[in-house]
Amino acid sequence: MSRPPPPFAPQNPTPGPNPAGPASSLPASFSNLQISRAPPPFASGGPPPGNGPAPSSIRGPQAPPPGARPFPGSPPPPSQPAPPLARPAASVQQSPPFGGPPAAQPQQMPPFNGSPFGPPAQVQRAPFGGPPGASQPPPFSGPPAALSQHPPFGGSPAAPTQPGPLGGPPYSAAQPPPFGGLPGAMAQRPFSGGSMPPFGGQQPPSQQGPYGGPPQFGGQRPGSQPPPFGAQVAPPSQPPPFMGPPGLNAPAFGPPGWQGQARPGIVPGGMQPPMRMPGMPGNMLPSALGQGMPSTPTMPYSPHAGAQVSTPSKIDPNQIPRPITETSVTIFETRQGGQAAVPPAASSEFIVKDTGNCSPRLMRCTMNQIPCTGDLLTTSGMPLALMVQPFALPHPSEEPIQLVDFGEMGPVRCSRCKAYINPFMRFVDQGKFFICNLCGFSNDTPREYLCNLGPDGRRRDADERPELCRGTVEFVASKEFLVREPMPAVYFFLIDVSMNAVHTGATAAACSAISQALSDLPEGPRTMVGIATFDSTIHFYSLKRSQQQPLMLIVPDIQDVYTPLQTDLILPLSECRESLEQLLESIPNMFENNRVADSAFGAAMKAGFLAMKSTGGKLLVFQSVLPSVGTGSLSAREAEGRSNISTGDKEAHKLLQPVDKTLKTMALEFAEYQVCVDVFITTQSYVDIASISVVPSTTGGRVYCYFPFSALSDPAKLFNDLRWNISRPQGFEAVMRVRCSQGLQVQDYSGNFCKRVPTDIDLPAIDSDKTIMVTFKHDDKFQENSECAFQCALLYTTVYGQRRIRVINISLTCTSMLSNLFRYADLETQFTYLVKQAASGIPSSPLSQVRDQVTSTCINILQSYRKYCASVSSSGQLILPEALKLLPLYTLALIKSIGLRNDGRVDDRSYWVSIVSSISVLLAVPLVFPRMISLHDLTSRDDEDTLIPNPLTLNSENIHDDGIYLLENGEDGFIYVGNAVNPVTLEQIFGVSSLAGVPTQLALEQFDNELSKKVNEVLNEIRRQRCSYLRLRLCQKGDQSGDFFRSLLVEDKAPGGLSYVEFLVHVHRQIQSKMT
Ligand SMILES: [Zn+2]
Repeated sequence: MSRPPPPFAPQNPTPGPNPAGPASSLPASFSNLQISRAPPPFASGGPPPGNGPAPSSIRGPQAPPPGARPFPGSPPPPSQPAPPLARPAASVQQSPPFGGPPAAQPQQMPPFNGSPFGPPAQVQRAPFGGPPGASQPPPFSGPPAALSQHPPFGGSPAAPTQPGPLGGPPYSAAQPPPFGGLPGAMAQRPFSGGSMPPFGGQQPPSQQGPYGGPPQFGGQRPGSQPPPFGAQVAPPSQPPPFMGPPGLNAPAFGPPGWQGQARPGIVPGGMQPPMRMPGMPGNMLPSALGQGMPSTPTMPYSPHAGAQVSTPSKIDPNQIPRPITETSVTIFETRQGGQAAVPPAASSEFIVKDTGNCSPRLMRCTMNQIPCTGDLLTTSGMPLALMVQPFALPHPSEEPIQLVDFGEMGPVRCSRCKAYINPFMRFVDQGKFFICNLCGFSNDTPREYLCNLGPDGRRRDADERPELCRGTVEFVASKEFLVREPMPAVYFFLIDVSMNAVHTGATAAACSAISQALSDLPEGPRTMVGIATFDSTIHFYSLKRSQQQPLMLIVPDIQDVYTPLQTDLILPLSECRESLEQLLESIPNMFENNRVADSAFGAAMKAGFLAMKSTGGKLLVFQSVLPSVGTGSLSAREAEGRSNISTGDKEAHKLLQPVDKTLKTMALEFAEYQVCVDVFITTQSYVDIASISVVPSTTGGRVYCYFPFSALSDPAKLFNDLRWNISRPQGFEAVMRVRCSQGLQVQDYSGNFCKRVPTDIDLPAIDSDKTIMVTFKHDDKFQENSECAFQCALLYTTVYGQRRIRVINISLTCTSMLSNLFRYADLETQFTYLVKQAASGIPSSPLSQVRDQVTSTCINILQSYRKYCASVSSSGQLILPEALKLLPLYTLALIKSIGLRNDGRVDDRSYWVSIVSSISVLLAVPLVFPRMISLHDLTSRDDEDTLIPNPLTLNSENIHDDGIYLLENGEDGFIYVGNAVNPVTLEQIFGVSSLAGVPTQLALEQFDNELSKKVNEVLNEIRRQRCSYLRLRLCQKGDQSGDFFRSLLVEDKAPGGLSYVEFLVHVHRQIQSKMT
């Protein structure tokens, strides 16, 4: 099997004989400066050196007062008199949310009412829009032209695509960067951008990636024409831009839609027919099932019949609820006829038209009608929660979020609750007053914001003002929201260079990934970088250009950490890029013979933090071994944990809690100073992710895990993960608050953030992948058919240094009918809630208890429906509400998931818990309920209206010995190969006629044949949909890997769980038991 060249030189090299440690192995070109407790560098008249880390105040008055940042809820300063002659002041710029048109062609709307007295309209950009000046390069700028011809994944050269202009127009709509190919290939082309079409999406919806084009991972796009910038929709005759076959207009990127979801639009009156289980006792309801079924005999069990499994043979497995694939693209208007419309399934492809409520991608509720009372909510058994993903990628065909600038007066707000002006605030008395839709307070309309009302009672300018007609807008933050100037975008890299890290190739992989990702950092003078390496000591590097070579500064004290310099450790990228690249290239060699096995992870993080304390920013840590020394060191407690779990020890879950509070305390301090930590774990052993993950989860970051690290297959993923991490839409120094109508109150927030006050959460960084769950409880009643509104306000700094407030609104009808709650239930959002609840319970309860809780939540919901909403008198039927008919299947999948199953490593479970914490609705479902497709027959498909074939049902009946299957969950891709696969097929896909000896961790190449090309296209499309470069693993029938694969087939009976049919029987029996 031909493989890509070894990506990095030192693959498991024999440790060199040099015992002297890193210092002696340094190339002579590196100065080595051993510093013992360097005094703070206040050479002239600075404060005297104190003990310990320099306090923040030494940075002078510009240092941010900890915790003193303003938040959306902070009261405005005393109202200022309106400027003379001020007329409606807001200038509105229609600018794309993530990368607008170039400055030369702003799609600028005239200031409303064209007041000559208002402040001049500024060329404002939405977040991630281009920097204000044309002199600054745009965000997400296109890959260099030449790179578009770069063969993806080292495969055959792609048909030449028309290159995007170098440093071209900014991509619109958050088209993420292309994901490059294998590092081997990229080693020849540093900074490869892959073969990405320029973003900017003049493409017909059907050809777009859903949600605004998540990452590209290379791949050919024959004949594709890079769309010019701009957000206009091109004629549908344009060939598909991405990897779909040329000329195919079908929605090539339609992710599966799941049956059982309410379709877009308002559900007309009348109950949806409930889902009655075929095969379950009772009569069939053909209309609910799509086809007739013979009536089935009553199941021979009763509530008191004991636990025997009841004749699953009587249930026709072909008739039980399963997701169906939805391939059409829908247009979703968020409000229709004055009411909230029911959003399409998160997993379907849709284009949102914001007509007053926000896009469901940004915020969606577990139920699309709100119960009038808390009692009704309790009776339903359903959760009331919002999933908020403030930077979710839009569909490229969607209108960008508009930016509104109220000038010095700042956005109009309710003077009582500080809610922001929104389409649901009601203007009365000729517009002189407005009534807050959240607290009911009647406010005076600011003089400069007055406008008469039309005959319909609305302001005459309502349709021209985004803040009065759109669910989501962004406001330019006025001075009241600034306590300091927005900080530069700082990226500090920390690389583990301990013995194992170097020997496994992890250090080299990290250096290469960083080096290649540098070109994806936001360009311009505001982007600053710094770097340090660590083993049992910490090595900083001064990259000042005036020096001939980078200067290494060693910090030996890992208990009481400090930084060796206060300046020169973090420099503008433009000033130090060459030295940084040179350094990154040298590091693997410098430490090639490192014999230091210890790793001072905690201390290194702390030192990195101190270096960036005055600005905040992103700290990106590459860690390969268990942190063993210095502050925050950990111990190997896994062995103990394993035996505990196998003996059923009730305390086993404690291994999933952080070992102590050291790292948490550190993380709180990081968050206070706006430092976000991401940890890339490239390891071959237990590293105690439960403890480590506290840092990212408190600071708005995340853990990435590459276990067991493979120098062959993982560098590509590491690079792509890093690249997406720094180039996706994101903001810094953020504070978020959710408000809701009187009658409800926020109960809790959950996600990756730090909370210092009950009402707000602090996010040193927030990006397009992060979701925050907000739960609510009633504190009063709502009137039937009144509306309950939710408003999320996110104050943040763009990567280009603009302070913004993104305001996301949704208003939903209140109901006192339980049946409406079921009818308007949102399955995927409720299930995401369940997954997050389960994950948060894992570290504090025994697994069996968590599984029981998950099951009983499902049963309680279904029982409530059965008891109060189903009119059928027969108690022998399992009746499922239409909107939630997949809840049992998803619940079963959750019980069998990596997080909740009994087998598996402690670190795997901790990792699962950590990613669930901030996962979006879109990714939570596949993480638990994966997608399986067949690969061997990709060239002979007859359903070629989509690039990705229809998913197969997750049971072993669909697995054949002569087949090859891919099962993916957004994190991993498992490729299962039967034991009777045609060797020709193996040769085509894997390049070998026998898989004997092929490693489990796979780097799939593209070969010069149709099948291989298709497999890679499909894989790249999945990567793009998931915004994730899957780790591929080979699973073969007959060995452990094959068994593992089969354990992921949710519908099968497994040692750890019931089959789907058995589970339905179980659920039914439990419901019956509760009914009697
Ligand atoms: Zn209010």
